[in-house]
Amino acid sequence: MAAHKAAGTEEKNLDKFKDEIINLYKNGYDTRTLAKLYNVSQPVIRRRLERLEIQRRKPLYGIKSELYTAKDGHKVQSTGELIICNFLFENKIFHLCRKRIPGTKLTYDHYIPILNKYIEYLGLDTEQIYKDNKINRKGSTDRKIAIYNGLKLNFLLIWPKDDIMKKLLNDKDIQNLL
Ligand SMILES: [Zn+2]
Repeated sequence: MAAHKAAGTEEKNLDKFKDEIINLYKNGYDTRTLAKLYNVSQPVIRRRLERLEIQRRKPLYGIKSELYTAKDGHKVQSTGELIICNFLFENKIFHLCRKRIPGTKLTYDHYIPILNKYIEYLGLDTEQIYKDNKINRKGSTDRKIAIYNGLKLNFLLIWPKDDIMKKLLNDKDIQNLL
């Protein structure tokens, strides 16, 4: 990436980085980060994206960011959650996404009411969002697990190193629905 060479670039010189900027934006970089990378102001990047008719999406700040839309229309934060959502949808398993765990202030990833079961994906791309926003994800993950255990909730935890499909297919509760 030639972005670091772009220091001092003026608006008109952004042309040569056009494809690069579009690519980065589509890959989740926000306008603030792009502005910093190309040493221009944020409105310059915004105007440029508008002129290129690139569809604007919500900024990625904070833990409420929504990056992906699953086949059932659910908004999720990571490709892992996307796989889980699409798996549940394709297997006609009714589920809810990203609502409060009852009696807590925490948000779950997926919940299957008929099983009274939660699915949590602790994905790498989610980790990156937290890292970018300087949020201590590890602490919040530990807290979440402690709360699930404390409330004796039925939950399936999926880690980045896991084979997501395998994990879902090997779950005894989920197997009963397939
Ligand atoms: Zn879904």
